[in-house]
Amino acid sequence: MKTNNLTRRKFIGNATAGTVGAMVLTHLPVFGHSKEVLVSELAVKGGEPVRTEGWLRWPVWNSDAEKPMLSVLRSGNWYRGNGTKGSEFEKKYADLIGIKRVVATASGTTALETALHVMEVDAGDEVIVSPYTFIATYNVVFNQKALPVFADTDQETFNINPHKIEEKITERTKAILPVHILGLPADMNRINAIAKKNDLVVIEDACQAWLAEYEGKKCGTLGDLGCFSFQNSKNIPSGEGGAVVGNDDAIMDHCYSYHNCGRAHGKTMSEFSGYPFRGGNKRLTEFQAVILMSQMERAKSDADKRLENALYLDSKLKEMPGIIPYKLTEGATRSAYHLYPFRYKKEFFDDLPREKFLAALSAEGIPCDGGYGPQYHDGLMEEALSSKGYKRLFSEQRLNRYREELHNLPDNDQLTREAVWFFQNMLLADRKDMDDIIDAIQKVYENRKQLL
Ligand SMILES: *Cc1c(COP(=O)(O)O)cnc(C)c1O
Repeated sequence: MKTNNLTRRKFIGNATAGTVGAMVLTHLPVFGHSKEVLVSELAVKGGEPVRTEGWLRWPVWNSDAEKPMLSVLRSGNWYRGNGTKGSEFEKKYADLIGIKRVVATASGTTALETALHVMEVDAGDEVIVSPYTFIATYNVVFNQKALPVFADTDQETFNINPHKIEEKITERTKAILPVHILGLPADMNRINAIAKKNDLVVIEDACQAWLAEYEGKKCGTLGDLGCFSFQNSKNIPSGEGGAVVGNDDAIMDHCYSYHNCGRAHGKTMSEFSGYPFRGGNKRLTEFQAVILMSQMERAKSDADKRLENALYLDSKLKEMPGIIPYKLTEGATRSAYHLYPFRYKKEFFDDLPREKFLAALSAEGIPCDGGYGPQYHDGLMEEALSSKGYKRLFSEQRLNRYREELHNLPDNDQLTREAVWFFQNMLLADRKDMDDIIDAIQKVYENRKQLL
């Protein structure tokens, strides 16, 4: 536990100088720090921060990872065509998440592009997607020359609201692309039922959801295909990297073929030779594969640690005024906690804007972020819609209606104004470090008047 440096005299001095709003800590919990720390000058105003210690630097590796890297280097077999590491990784990842087949890719983006192509999302199609996601999810749909049609977000779960999906289906709709955002599972039973009823395919963007679970099954294994990312910031990192996963051999052979220049692959293509299909080079290198195999060794214990700390944060933060932790959707059994999110209700902080809350919390030594903005008002949308290709593929009427619908995502708009994220590496720290987070939020709350 940390001791505080504030003397009682300074504490009283601060208080009588009128800088402190609420002096009485009544219903709020107090953890690692004394009341003097919690009712004192905010660090953003020059006071002592709650925490000066840093957080775990990501990614994390140990010397065991060096030997296989060196051996790939010395072998000269750096590409999967003359190495074995790519296939070895694919088998291990398949076992880890409980699926028949995995195709490793250069990135999560290329995994999604492969999945969309193989599931026949084609030029002029529409794909229903959550607006609350990393921009890659929008981009991959545009890259297929299809339209990413947004169904509004459920603010409590941060995920696509399944009740908003059916109203977005048109005769052009080909797929639903649910994102298990921040590691929180999407409502897959409802999504799969809507897809079945309307003859749509389901591609899961599980790029933040390694080892997350829905009804005890791993995210990414619940739709027609699932996609993962292993980019440097992700919970299983290899600099860049990704995977498409699925249970259908013909579909997975096609994914392999597509990611390998369209060359025939596997038993289901044994009658073909040469280039029976279109494709590209979306392959993972052998270096990435060996890093991934060493990172996978810690993936489960890391996931358990994040879960334990997140449940502790849940139990405390839900008692705080104006702080509403995420809710797991019905059926979700476990989040991957790529991010730990809550909603900040400024009404409870005398209307202190979220940006000021974030700055104050950061200054107390607690890294945090406001998360995704309303990206559908950014330039990429209009750049696509006014392009030659989109004008050929969609009627002016459809594109205009689409533009209007971008202004009708009220729940997502509100979430982009209220969300606060903590990062996955913070959840790998100890219980006392979680207390720093809780105390820092409380300190900002108690002293909010200093910021008004
Ligand atoms: C990271 C991410 C991607 C893209 O993965 P890359 O490996 O960066 O290409 C796609 N979707 C989501 C939700 C992501 O977080």
